[in-house]
Amino acid sequence: MFDVLIVGSGGAGLTAALNAKKEGVNVLVISKTYPTHSQTCQAQGGINAVLKENSQDNIQNYKDDTYKASHKLGNPLHIDFFCKNSKDTIEWLDKIGVPFSRDENNNISQRKFGGTKAQRTCYSSDYTGLKILHTLYDQCIKEEIEFLHEHLLLNLIVEENTIKGVVVVDIMNSEVKEIQAKTVILATGGHAGIYHQFTTNSYASTGDGIACALRAGAKLSNMEFVQFHPTALENKNILISESARGEGGYLLDQNGKRFIEELKPRDEVARAIYEKHHKGEKVYLDLRHLGLEKINEVMPQERRLVKDFMKLNMESDLIPINPSAHYTMGGILTDENTQSSIKNLYACGECSQSGIHGANRLGGNSLLEIVTYGKVAGLSAAKAAKELLEYKEPSKEQYNKDKESITNIIERENQGDFYKIKKELGKLFFNNVGLFREEKKLTKALDYIIKKENEIKTLGINDKSTIYNKNLIEFLEFQNIIQLGNVIIKSALKRKESRGAHFRTDYNEQKEEFDKITVVKLENELINISFEEILWN
Ligand SMILES: Cc1cc2nc3c(=O)[nH]c(=O)nc-3n(C[C@H](O)[C@H](O)[C@H](O)COP(=O)(O)OP(=O)(O)OC[C@H]3O[C@@H](n4cnc5c(N)ncnc54)[C@H](O)[C@@H]3O)c2cc1C
Repeated sequence: MFDVLIVGSGGAGLTAALNAKKEGVNVLVISKTYPTHSQTCQAQGGINAVLKENSQDNIQNYKDDTYKASHKLGNPLHIDFFCKNSKDTIEWLDKIGVPFSRDENNNISQRKFGGTKAQRTCYSSDYTGLKILHTLYDQCIKEEIEFLHEHLLLNLIVEENTIKGVVVVDIMNSEVKEIQAKTVILATGGHAGIYHQFTTNSYASTGDGIACALRAGAKLSNMEFVQFHPTALENKNILISESARGEGGYLLDQNGKRFIEELKPRDEVARAIYEKHHKGEKVYLDLRHLGLEKINEVMPQERRLVKDFMKLNMESDLIPINPSAHYTMGGILTDENTQSSIKNLYACGECSQSGIHGANRLGGNSLLEIVTYGKVAGLSAAKAAKELLEYKEPSKEQYNKDKESITNIIERENQGDFYKIKKELGKLFFNNVGLFREEKKLTKALDYIIKKENEIKTLGINDKSTIYNKNLIEFLEFQNIIQLGNVIIKSALKRKESRGAHFRTDYNEQKEEFDKITVVKLENELINISFEEILWN
């Protein structure tokens, strides 16, 4: 039995692991991928912080920008903590060995990102997430933290609204295992993978942890808010970071004219580009004026991606781009200690709704969030584990249910093709639950998803082997996206206004009566959505 069990080995999970371990408790990290494959490694642009207060930037500016981007749905107290701690967070990363890019005076360099006038984003060339993730993993190895790679979380074991552990399936041999723990931290990342083939996210971003939390009775929040990034490579959906515009890149229409201020908030820029595409026009990112030397210094990875995937050169060609689903603001509702509504269950990183991003996230704020709240989660869970003197073993109910379910999926006859549905769903979500929403389109998407939910019991897998059965794992992830897809649409239907990333053409104004977070709970198998005031706790 473990004191602290962490599910997810991205930036949030690994930070939590390091901080829990240093409190002297025993820690296990489980993840469906290897740590180095987590989504965090894809982050290119950077991580925000106010390193020095001066005429150019200060903590109050940072707080104001973050709150403004949240469109009144951020929790001011959480934002205050987050911004005030940003310098310490970067200093900790620097101390453990993250190789930040530096200026001629050896100070950490900072660049501009959208939604602010300040130069606030620290970076490591255009490999920021990768460098952070690798450094954290090195530290975990050094601290001899225990890992269980390639294990997929199936469900949480919750009894009397208290976490008791998890049920996982070992991807290598399909064995179902129960792992008991005094506390569990979910750090399973976001769910933009629902927008399959219309997202910058990896295939693994299927919101599994959030779906498990929902099934176990935890509160989710703000699930309607999905951020679309303005600049993904056209039809490839590979991200070109906001830093490209931060470094001075332009957005051009097909007549070669700039049509929007490039560093406006992401939702505004993405909608402007989508509208051009809707009229059949093309939009380009223009970096030619930066020159090869600058491009090689600040975005070598992206230059290579453009060359490999588009057969174009950043320094001499215009790059066709489109908006793409990028980040999910909603997730497991957590308090200032990252505690969820289930006792001793914590959540951090993109799977959580920690009160920072609200209706829209500032670029560079997610990497800061995963490290800031990864630390809080590790410390909170370690403290709770130490205080829990008596641990009552769970019944075998959840384990037996999951074991039976896996056997059933493997054995039952497959009467459909869930890959085809996943593809249809991605397109439907991009068009109907995307940058511009309205009742009719949302309802059509909901009808589709309910129909597919009813069909799930007739669907299954063709590969019946138990060794490295990718077909089985992808089916389990598919079940989670269907469940969360339903929640996203219902939340979007409930919010009859436009706010941040949630833009409704039938209610195109922000309304005071919706200055509240949405809260989702599963009650008697039914999704219940309500609005709650933001708690100034
Ligand atoms: C292309 C791209 C560029 C980005 N650039 C930036 C940037 O410049 N700045 C910024 O601030 N943000 C950026 N972001 C966002 C940021 O990278 C992510 O929000 C952040 O890294 C998420 O970290 P995480 O630790 O919460 O989750 P992840 O890194 O996604 O890790 C999730 C972990 O959970 C595991 N997991 C998931 N489901 C299960 C399951 N069922 N069982 C077991 N394990 C599971 C996964 O294997 C993985 O280890 C970018 C995102 C993308 C896609």
